Amino acid sequence: MFKNLIAGEWINGSDVIRNLNPSDTNDLIGEYSRASVDQTKQAIAAAKTAFPRWARSSILERHAILRNAANEILSRKDELGRLLSREEGKTLAEGVGETVRASQIFDFFAGECLRLAGETVPSTRPGVSVDVTREPVGVVGIITPWNFPIAIPAWKIAPALCYGNTVVFKPAELVPGSAWSIVDILHRAGLPEGVLNLVMGKGSVVGQTMLTSADVNAMTFTGSTATGKQVALASIEHNRRFQLEMGGKNPFIVLDDADLSIAVDAAVNSAFFSTGQRCTASSRLIVTAGIHDRFVAAMVERMSSLMVGDALKPDTHIGPVVDQGQLKQDIDYINIGKNEGAKLAFGGELVERGTPGFYLRPALFTEATNQMRISREEIFGPVASVIRVKDYDEALATANDTPFGLSSGIATTSLKYATHFKRNAEAGMVMVNLPTAGVDFHVPFGGRKASSFGPREQGKYAAEFFTMVKTAYATA
Ligand code: ADP
Repeated sequence: MFKNLIAGEWINGSDVIRNLNPSDTNDLIGEYSRASVDQTKQAIAAAKTAFPRWARSSILERHAILRNAANEILSRKDELGRLLSREEGKTLAEGVGETVRASQIFDFFAGECLRLAGETVPSTRPGVSVDVTREPVGVVGIITPWNFPIAIPAWKIAPALCYGNTVVFKPAELVPGSAWSIVDILHRAGLPEGVLNLVMGKGSVVGQTMLTSADVNAMTFTGSTATGKQVALASIEHNRRFQLEMGGKNPFIVLDDADLSIAVDAAVNSAFFSTGQRCTASSRLIVTAGIHDRFVAAMVERMSSLMVGDALKPDTHIGPVVDQGQLKQDIDYINIGKNEGAKLAFGGELVERGTPGFYLRPALFTEATNQMRISREEIFGPVASVIRVKDYDEALATANDTPFGLSSGIATTSLKYATHFKRNAEAGMVMVNLPTAGVDFHVPFGGRKASSFGPREQGKYAAEFFTMVKTAYATA
């Protein structure tokens, strides 16, 4: 039984999460303990108690812990990557890649501890000096989704600890294994008791207890738009800062002048890798008329060669959908698309693989319009639609006509259009001749409109959320 970490002790909870493999639901990965409401409150209290000492800890202490965690994650990348793929269903290559990414994130923030700095500036008043410094915020609540079981926890936990905050961390119920592993690694790396607390369990129990606690000073959340709204409302109620990363409906434009093979590579990656379960995935392929038919034919050909199968098998390109609920949502949207009049050009059917798993062949719609529900609502599965447009101007207008604004991509060989698109895409991240998903760890991550709220995550911009600025005046 994998337990929760509260005030430096591994504690048994109220009942059990059975962590199942979506490639083979007969495969029980492990039993993980669910924290109760009281235990969640104890975790918050422990983080509050631990805060004053951790806020003043030496930057070398923090550096060493984050660096050691980075090293251990990297040295165990194959084992941890395998666990990740086994519990989430992305391919082994993707699971190992994400694990390496988590190590790089801890490594980056190990370095950031050593680069903490403020400013000393002249005052407008003679004989007065002004210091601008950054201080930790306090107890940070971290709530994460299932689709990046190690990278998203890493990119929230690492900066929180780096800047001197203490943490209460609630991972998604579907993927407790990766979360438990990084908490175990950080605990053994020497974190003082109460600095990092793990409370596994339901959003409606553990998550809600965090949201309604007056002692959580900041909440960082990645997940659905509906839950994000609850995080926002509860945070305003408690006067706490919050950061939200939510959905996307990311466009990928293909212009007549695109290099077809680059366009197809990027579109297939954007739409279907990680089983389409990325908030930066593209589900709207906006294609100009001159290349439309060639693009669709090349997409269908490429999709026919994608192997859907067990995440742990080496020849698998597309792993299973994460669970029955998500599979139902994907199939419901495929039916909605058909009923709305889009044409299912490829895939969309269940696949048998000899083990009970949630196997869905990636689906491509054509003849879709941007007003259809499949073009407006996030599906979060391997389902994409081709929307035909006449030219770049219509493509850009269509790309921006969405409630979301996380990532936006274009395939073109034109410098003019690429430059114009970088300036005018209404998204936090813009990709030229690259997939909409797949980002670096040292630069800001985040979106606009209904996709995100609050300061950016990752890189040095993470300091905006995980620190408070103080301006101190004194006579010189
Ligand atoms: P998804 O499962 O689609 O990624 P959710 O928003 O349901 O999106 O879940 C993201 C995270 O938010 C998970 O850790 C989940 O347990 C948590 N969560 C869900 N509902 C609540 C809630 N009412 N309060 C706090 N956390 C929640």
